Amino acid sequence: MIILSKHKEFRPYIICILTIKNTILSSLLTLISFFCVPNYLISQEKPFVVVLDAGHGGHDTGNRGNGYYEKKIALNIALKTGNKLEKIKGFKVIYTRKTDVFVDLIERANIANRNDADLFISIHCDAFTSPKAYGAGTFVLGLHENERNFKVAQRENSVIFLEKDFEKKYDGFNPNDPQSVISLLLMQQTYLNQSIAAASSFQKSFVNNLKRKDRKVKQAGFIVLKYTYMPSVLVETGFLTNPSEGAYLNSSKGQENMANALSKAIINYRNIRDASYIDDNIELVDKQVEKQVNDVPKSNIKFKVQIAASKNKLELKPYNFSGLNSITRLKSGKLYRYYYSETSTYKKALIKLNEAKSKGFSNSFIVAFDNDKIISITKAQQLLK
Ligand SMILES: [Zn+2]
Repeated sequence: MIILSKHKEFRPYIICILTIKNTILSSLLTLISFFCVPNYLISQEKPFVVVLDAGHGGHDTGNRGNGYYEKKIALNIALKTGNKLEKIKGFKVIYTRKTDVFVDLIERANIANRNDADLFISIHCDAFTSPKAYGAGTFVLGLHENERNFKVAQRENSVIFLEKDFEKKYDGFNPNDPQSVISLLLMQQTYLNQSIAAASSFQKSFVNNLKRKDRKVKQAGFIVLKYTYMPSVLVETGFLTNPSEGAYLNSSKGQENMANALSKAIINYRNIRDASYIDDNIELVDKQVEKQVNDVPKSNIKFKVQIAASKNKLELKPYNFSGLNSITRLKSGKLYRYYYSETSTYKKALIKLNEAKSKGFSNSFIVAFDNDKIISITKAQQLLK
């Protein structure tokens, strides 16, 4: 609003003063709103990056149940899902392929890593020897719980045989050996809880929105999920080998419905994730108070076992860390480092290191701290003498 002075000669000064006043006022308001807005709302402004990975493509057709093409159906569902999410503010969609091309499994994961994605979803269609099998299932990376889960992973992993130098690229991984999966597990361990949360969201959506048979969240060793640094799931949208489910998935109506269910599940997962961030913050405050009361260190030197590093801020709950208690988290740069236990001697730390390794964190190592500053183990031992 500009008030015009009756005295023409003063007008430029008044307008100038009013403009300066408005600028100061609006800067102040911005500043105030910045401090008043809770942190979690600010963090929501960063878009939620979701990577949609349409399985197979090019000379890899995927399964051909009832003559359908898994690669085509997966691509249509991925594009339709992305189309819905792109219209929603706060979402950024990345595709591993938008056309009928062959993409290496490791490159699919790398696309997600390069884009610092919040969620990776690999979209597929199932196949089985019996035409009776039907329903949608969602997988997270883990040990195959049974023969059937191994078979699903084996089929999806076998596409690496179509890639050049697959032995080198996948560290000698053999899709036909059930034991080979154990080496896959470490990387995704950090994200397992979030991956399961995402997978549950998909299953709920399939059942509630599409009335599909719930084939539950399952674990199996999928290579494409191994190399991602974020929560990752693989969705088997249904069986092409089942006559009616195959026809449904091959129809544009079926694909549209499936895309609806997937996009709703992704939005739901984002909401759950943001909500648990808030819980996490509240919990941290309590822990700090508790620490001040109970924990007066006798020495400034302490040892911790670093078990993982991740871009994701995980809740410090045992179920996120294979049942380990006493987990602390430190942020350094873009990474959160997760430490198990805190001891006053190196000897005790070695015992804790073995415990962590026995829980599957085989790359764990001991870190020494002097007043919360990281120092070398040798220096810590000298200072303790
Ligand atoms: Zn597939």
